[in-house]
Amino acid sequence: MTARTVLVVGAGPAGAAAALAARARGAAVVLAERAFAGGNAVAHSLLPSKVHLAATADLAAYARWGLGSPPEGAPWAVGAHLRWRREAARTAYEEDLDGAGVDRVSGAVTFEGPGRARIEGPTGGRDLAFDAVVIATGSVQAFPPGTTPDGRVVRIARDLASLDTVPATAAVLGAGPTGVEIATVLAGYGTRVTLVGRAPGLLPGEDPVLADALARTLAGRGVELVLAAGVTACAADGDGVRVDLADGRSLRFETAFVATGRRGATQGLAVDRLGLAPDGTGYLPVDGCARTAAPGVFAAGDVTGEPLVANKAAAQGAVAGARAASGEGEADAEGKDLPTLDPAGVPTAVFSQPEYARVGIAPGSAAAAGLSVWAGDDLASLRRHVLGRETSSDAVRVAVGPAGEVRGAAILGDGAAERIALAAAAIAWHVPAAALANLLPVVPSAGETWTRLRP
Ligand SMILES: Cc1cc2nc3c(=O)[nH]c(=O)nc-3n(C[C@H](O)[C@H](O)[C@H](O)COP(=O)(O)OP(=O)(O)OC[C@H]3O[C@@H](n4cnc5c(N)ncnc54)[C@H](O)[C@@H]3O)c2cc1C
Repeated sequence: MTARTVLVVGAGPAGAAAALAARARGAAVVLAERAFAGGNAVAHSLLPSKVHLAATADLAAYARWGLGSPPEGAPWAVGAHLRWRREAARTAYEEDLDGAGVDRVSGAVTFEGPGRARIEGPTGGRDLAFDAVVIATGSVQAFPPGTTPDGRVVRIARDLASLDTVPATAAVLGAGPTGVEIATVLAGYGTRVTLVGRAPGLLPGEDPVLADALARTLAGRGVELVLAAGVTACAADGDGVRVDLADGRSLRFETAFVATGRRGATQGLAVDRLGLAPDGTGYLPVDGCARTAAPGVFAAGDVTGEPLVANKAAAQGAVAGARAASGEGEADAEGKDLPTLDPAGVPTAVFSQPEYARVGIAPGSAAAAGLSVWAGDDLASLRRHVLGRETSSDAVRVAVGPAGEVRGAAILGDGAAERIALAAAAIAWHVPAAALANLLPVVPSAGETWTRLRP
């Protein structure tokens, strides 16, 4: 039997996972990437922002013991480390794909019709016929009207990667996960930050109680919060930036970062020639099998819409790749069931300081879903005293089902992104909330917060 040919478009976390999964099931895989193996995740978004956040967390720990303020050249030094780590991560992606026998092609894909694509690369073009395709082209930043990013003073999230000096003042537009992370980085380096959000609170859609606690922590660190505010314009003005608000105020900053939303990266692909139409935000909706509305056309990662996170991208890519290699059935060539993914079960995190993480139903939405909420804090923990904190800095909230089972959880505190895995396991295995409260955590440890979990 001849192997199926699977075309994968985009070599980010979704496309790389799709290519590997399709190869593992015997398909001949062509992976086309127009820019960078590892995708935007490695080149522009996840890796650069997390390197800056890790650095500012270390600087904050240093300052906590009264050991001084951040050195002026910190972002420049961190940037040098980042460029090196980015190349290392790109090489790791390339070696993984090459080792599995994936045919990597440099170039941008445009569809010509069902089963046909053109890849236009730096050394020429190539026409390709395929049996199935996985579209994993990610997302791009969207801008509100009146906002004109110039990469110099009006910047976007990806410009954090090239931050090499500390601006004295900065506006961050957008109080979702990306805006909160950028505000955290800049404040950590010593910038006077104004965080502007359209909703009345931070992190719309997340747990409002913990989001409010995070807002208080940011404000305590000197971040000015301008919430429930519409931005009508944001543009370079003289040697700085002017931000106009809907209430008539006009604010001036040395720089601004725009983080107000994203769109699916489907422009220029000509998916209409596959019989597909992106939704109003450029996304390609898929089912739990990563299937789009067109036969043989799968999609994975950011291009399928929320949640826009790398763990969903990789898991959905693996589902798409396995299915693209196996045809239309529910089992592979060896009769094994093919995987599925429910994006609602994907844990997500905001790498603020402290971190916020959630899995399943946000406890703030529990009442509307007929669930109850249990909450815990670290007020009785010894860890709080070790760290010299006067008030609680750590909190968990859990959405609890009628049989006492964990249905969702949110954590605010150091290491929340790691700690949310316990709640994810509790949901997957139908663990009662009471079992979390009866854990025997090491003292001192962040696990102490679970022992205060009560209805
Ligand atoms: C500032 C920031 C911080 C983030 N931090 C985190 C985090 O800490 N944790 C987390 O889980 N997520 C984070 N994310 C989200 C994460 O980066 C994305 O969810 C992830 O990159 C999605 O992976 P992907 O494979 O779908 O797409 P991408 O990583 O965007 O990769 C898509 C690839 O497709 C290529 N491509 C596009 N069109 C074509 C074409 N026509 N032909 C060929 N190639 C094409 C692009 O060049 C790109 O390399 C962050 C995002 C931002 C903006």
